[in-house]
Amino acid sequence: MKHGWLDKTAKRTDLEEFDLRKARRELRNVLKQILNDEIPTVEELSILFSAQGREIYLLGQVADIIRERQVGSIITYVVNRNINFTNICSNNCLFCAYSVPLGSKEGYFDISIESIRKKIEQTYPYHITEVCVQGGIHPAVDFDSYLEILQNLKEIDPTLHIHAFSPQEITHAANSIKEDVEDVLLEFKKHGLGSIPGTAAEILDDNIRKVICPHKLSSAEWIHIIELSHQLGIPTTATILFGHIENSQHWVRHLSILRMIQEKTHGFTEFIPLPFIAENTQLKQNHSFHELSSLDYIKFYAVSRLFLGDLFKNIQTSWVKLGFPMAQITLTAGCNDFGGTLFEENITRSAGGLFGQLATPEKIQRSIHQLQRTSCERGTLYNLLC
Ligand code: SF4
Repeated sequence: MKHGWLDKTAKRTDLEEFDLRKARRELRNVLKQILNDEIPTVEELSILFSAQGREIYLLGQVADIIRERQVGSIITYVVNRNINFTNICSNNCLFCAYSVPLGSKEGYFDISIESIRKKIEQTYPYHITEVCVQGGIHPAVDFDSYLEILQNLKEIDPTLHIHAFSPQEITHAANSIKEDVEDVLLEFKKHGLGSIPGTAAEILDDNIRKVICPHKLSSAEWIHIIELSHQLGIPTTATILFGHIENSQHWVRHLSILRMIQEKTHGFTEFIPLPFIAENTQLKQNHSFHELSSLDYIKFYAVSRLFLGDLFKNIQTSWVKLGFPMAQITLTAGCNDFGGTLFEENITRSAGGLFGQLATPEKIQRSIHQLQRTSCERGTLYNLLC
């Protein structure tokens, strides 16, 4: 068995006892219970998030042990391509540096079959199994446009898994034809929608949403669309945007909501914590916020495994937001999935992200092997392809 943080020659119980003494008593007790396979309560989740300094290394160590127990040592990745079909958006979220208003010179919108085909051909010689399609909330994009995207993709390659349209986009599609969200989801599913990105969740707290994304759907609406999708047999991912104006109590509530949904539906495929990239955003200009450290990142991914791992087997790191070295560290602190190759990444790059648009499968595999772990390509729904 391999544990990234552990001396493999030490007996596990000795090591746990030794290391646990580094933590405050209340944190130590929670970690002991977790090592005995107990699930932390919401109060204990707050204690986990209160870890500081060296305690965070300990969280990483315990999360690595729990990850090994829950999913083994394989690190998965998906060979996929992003298609961001428009950057025109009327929502003006303060954390977003990607969108531009209608009429802007930098605005683009293209859902033609030629353009989509070209984007897919750009991925050759790699064989993508998934396309991830998202765009801004363009006033002229309506239900028919979303349908056209699905139809074009299916015509180009009927085997592709279409992972598309955030709950915000689903709402926009439904509003455009004054139909129920349920009917829209069913129609999209009929036309090939395979799963939905659980983006637009940001922080599931309406007071925070009023500040960072006042025009977006509410927390209750996000939860409703996600639960409905799961009930209709459309899996989704789960996300959080962390490290801006929120505090750890918002993290506790957000993770508790995700856990509650998953207990009910089992429709989430993975949890993807997304650190906020501030550089070119209005949020950075207009609000003060506490910038997170590398240790805070480790803490967030580790706690995600410790609190959610029994129900969310897959905790995904984000090489786009963190860069490869930091992503590797999170993979030794609870994560088991590297994410996707992407081929095109505009959203984080617009906000000042420095870590590129494409991670080739070879580069991802090398990073995984450097951790002395096994790499395995997967499909969107975690079917192993290796
Ligand atoms: S995050 Fe999405 S909805 Fe918000 S402004 Fe950016 S593109 Fe628009």
